[in-house]
Amino acid sequence: MILILKPNIDSESRDYKRLESHLTNLPNIEYRVHKVIGAAQTLTEVYLIGSTSALSLDEMRSFQAVDHVVRISEEYRVLGRHKDDSRPTGFAYNGVEFGQDNLNIFAGLCAVDSPESVETMMRALKENGQVCTRMGAYKPRTSPYSFQGHGKNCLKFVFELAGKYGIRVIAMEVTHESHIDEINQALDDTGRPTGVMLQIGTRNTQNFELLKSVGRQQEFPVLLKRGFGITLDESLHAAEYLASEGNHKVVFGLRGMKTNIGDPHRNMVDFAHIPVVKRLTRMPVCIDPSHSVGGRFRGPDNILDIMHTTAQGVIAGANMILVDFHPNPSVALVDGPQALRMEELPKFIEDVRIVREAFESRLALFSE
Ligand code: PEP
Ligand code: MN
Repeated sequence: MILILKPNIDSESRDYKRLESHLTNLPNIEYRVHKVIGAAQTLTEVYLIGSTSALSLDEMRSFQAVDHVVRISEEYRVLGRHKDDSRPTGFAYNGVEFGQDNLNIFAGLCAVDSPESVETMMRALKENGQVCTRMGAYKPRTSPYSFQGHGKNCLKFVFELAGKYGIRVIAMEVTHESHIDEINQALDDTGRPTGVMLQIGTRNTQNFELLKSVGRQQEFPVLLKRGFGITLDESLHAAEYLASEGNHKVVFGLRGMKTNIGDPHRNMVDFAHIPVVKRLTRMPVCIDPSHSVGGRFRGPDNILDIMHTTAQGVIAGANMILVDFHPNPSVALVDGPQALRMEELPKFIEDVRIVREAFESRLALFSE
């Protein structure tokens, strides 16, 4: 059961204290308080854990401090959508809104290789009105002999260039909890010119200790990729690990499933799950057409499969697109074959705009 308290309630007020003492005395019930800090107001949510089925909704509602009560009926306790659950979806971070009703593009480098590539990428983003990007510093690779990413050595120049080109949020994968401290330190050292969304890759979706560490910090939002060989339910539970530790700013990423049935694509595209994730949870949904398709295949219509796949996700209501670009894919150190080129960025953005408009027309069509 979740109690949503009156907006901006003071934890020293009489109403709050009265509720607190009632909850403390309930047998076999533990509670956790979570504050959702928004631009206009702070919402306090109280999660009751234990034998809550015997508790009466009406009794909880009768407390002055309580605005409304949600009985949790599904498994995804914090991030799930429950009956009569009108809590907002998503969050704001560093001036960018993330929710189930909007769309952000994160075009960028799969892996940071040189300051020149980063600068070319960021300049192109600025010229095309973009404020988000992806930049991989820590790369999980199949072979230990492959380039592992520049790690903390590249953070300073990446963040400085982000500040120079007005980038507000960088999606960056972390594979170990120490990477969070390195990112925080580099942001401090550079005067915090940008924001970072910590990415948990598909190989770490069920790395529960990493999930707990990333969930314990509330500075950075998280992009959790679904596991490429587990069920959707298992990946949604992984997201719940982040939330149950206190971080509710979670975007859920679809990136395709590992199976040869999807050949010649690198992974079997799973964007049909966009409405499913939105129905079951309040998380914004990201698509990664680059790691799904994995190559620059082009149809007789002259449209790249990556662009077709992006369109399929956007028309189904995707909220974020993570897509690989590179100024010179033939020398990219990771995933060059799937990278789009700088000159393709304007058309990519225009294509997304066209399809998003079509999605909004679909919404209007079915709105009554
Ligand atoms: C990535 O986005 O760079 C990446 C490695 O993705 P995934 O974890 O989905 O393979
Ligand atoms: Mn990659």
